[in-house]
Amino acid sequence: MTSIQKHRKTAFTQQNGKCCYCGFRMWLDSADTFAKQHGITVKQARHFQCTAEHLQARQDGGRDARSNIAAACIRCNQLRHQRKNPMAPAQYQQHVKRRVKKGGWHSARPAMH
Ligand SMILES: [Zn+2]
Repeated sequence: MTSIQKHRKTAFTQQNGKCCYCGFRMWLDSADTFAKQHGITVKQARHFQCTAEHLQARQDGGRDARSNIAAACIRCNQLRHQRKNPMAPAQYQQHVKRRVKKGGWHSARPAMH
């Protein structure tokens, strides 16, 4: 296991398996199991894969240190870094929570919070 995988797992456990941005549950090992548990399709489950989120992006000098890694679902992670000017983590979390409230972030709705 690489250190980044270790950090991801630790962060996942400390966050009770929930994404640091949207607050939805994530999976580490199996999309199939997650889909079955939550009554969604495997395709939908793929959005909830747990990834290591670099709070400070690697391109900005962020390191693979535990203090710089949070567990985020792949959707939140990718969308944050796709932005032209990525928001700071706290700001992005508020942005995502607003979108979730309006029902417009994840199309599937597995168990919340
Ligand atoms: Zn998320």
